[in-house]
Amino acid sequence: MTHPDWECSAVIDQMFFFLDSELVDADRDEIERHLADCGPCLAKYDLERTVKSLVQRSCCETAPDGLRDRVLLSIRQVQVRISED
Ligand SMILES: [Zn+2]
Repeated sequence: MTHPDWECSAVIDQMFFFLDSELVDADRDEIERHLADCGPCLAKYDLERTVKSLVQRSCCETAPDGLRDRVLLSIRQVQVRISED
């Protein structure tokens, strides 16, 4: 794996702003580049984006624990299916 410019922890710190489109273009570019190179951060980004879209759809401030667990479970099942192919 290529070594990303940004530390994973920095990317994860900025991820919520990235999801909300609150970053300047330069930072967005850095994060997009990091996500392209870094599987663990990309998986986390996909998870956060999925949870966020579900939360927005249900018009809640935060996802209920049960919902978040179900989302996590279904994402894990999708990932298993992908890795089995
Ligand atoms: Zn990373």
